[in-house]
Amino acid sequence: MSKIHNFSAGPAVLPKEAIEESIDALRNFAGTGLSLLEVSHRGKEFVEVMDQACASVRELMGLTDEYAVVYLQGGASTQFLMVAMNCLQNKAGYLDTGTWASNAIKEAKLFGEVSVLGSSKETGYDHIPKGYTIPADLDYFHCTSNNTIFGTQMQEFPDSPVPMICDMSSDIFSRQLDFSKFDLIYAGAQKNIGPAGVTLVVIKKELLGKVNRVIPTMLDYRTHISKESMFNTPPVFPVFVVWRTLEWVKKHGLAEIEAINNSKADLLYSEIDRNGLFRGVAQVEDRSRMNVTFDLVDQQLSPAFLECCKEAGISGVKGHRSVGGFRASIYNALGLESVEALVDVMRNFKA
Ligand SMILES: *Cc1c(COP(=O)(O)O)cnc(C)c1O
Repeated sequence: MSKIHNFSAGPAVLPKEAIEESIDALRNFAGTGLSLLEVSHRGKEFVEVMDQACASVRELMGLTDEYAVVYLQGGASTQFLMVAMNCLQNKAGYLDTGTWASNAIKEAKLFGEVSVLGSSKETGYDHIPKGYTIPADLDYFHCTSNNTIFGTQMQEFPDSPVPMICDMSSDIFSRQLDFSKFDLIYAGAQKNIGPAGVTLVVIKKELLGKVNRVIPTMLDYRTHISKESMFNTPPVFPVFVVWRTLEWVKKHGLAEIEAINNSKADLLYSEIDRNGLFRGVAQVEDRSRMNVTFDLVDQQLSPAFLECCKEAGISGVKGHRSVGGFRASIYNALGLESVEALVDVMRNFKA
């Protein structure tokens, strides 16, 4: 079978090694003679996996002991409510930069007042709002680093006078960042670091314990921090795959990963800008280096273009149903050669 270039937005492409190692663990986990799926999560072999998966996040982000790292279930969507339930007492500020951001706002409103500090909704979320100020009386400021559906990405983060919380689901570990600027970071694994079923949450511990509502045990970050993500049965398989994926990220280092991601994005955007048949969807300065949204100037050609993609083994480039057009998700594990294959199709596509 010829190679399939996987541009899916999520679940998405993972490092081949991480997949192979995970298959091995399904057959014989850490020399136990048992499948990873059959052993107790409290056994020393799995506890070691969980410890390593947390340690890798600390290492990659350069976190101090002020931060806790936990793996939770319920996806990034559950974080929309957990963030507010655990941290919103009176009022929080949110940036409305897309579908996921607006879902986060909707959930936060269940727990307190939400001030939308900036929104790009009016222009179809084609840019990141700028020039907003973050009032100092907020409990926190929430932003979405990369807008998976619309293809925009925050290139800079504000110096926030209040704790900064960020949904990094679709660009986590894709670039070097000063992670110490953030007080809480969350990411559903299935975009850039693993399969669906586990969510990474990094929390500065001093952020917690400041609201006076009753928080159900499972939804209280402190429960999971104190039990090192083992309060209840963790999703062992997704955690294992995340661990192996993070090992791969560490092997390359964030600097190298960022450089490759930049070359992939530059190659694709320059073809979109050069080739008269296509146009970009997001405003140039806010273009995402993870999810590249574009369209055909003549949309009637879409089925023909998708057919050419299919013939070249290019999968997953159809745009999100709410935006249309095309979206090429070029996450960490997607090689430059896959972007070259897509660019070749675009070059050879003649009206
Ligand atoms: C995919 C995505 C989500 C939703 O993640 P789930 O794990 O499916 O709940 C939230 N935020 C962003 C930025 C995403 O890309």
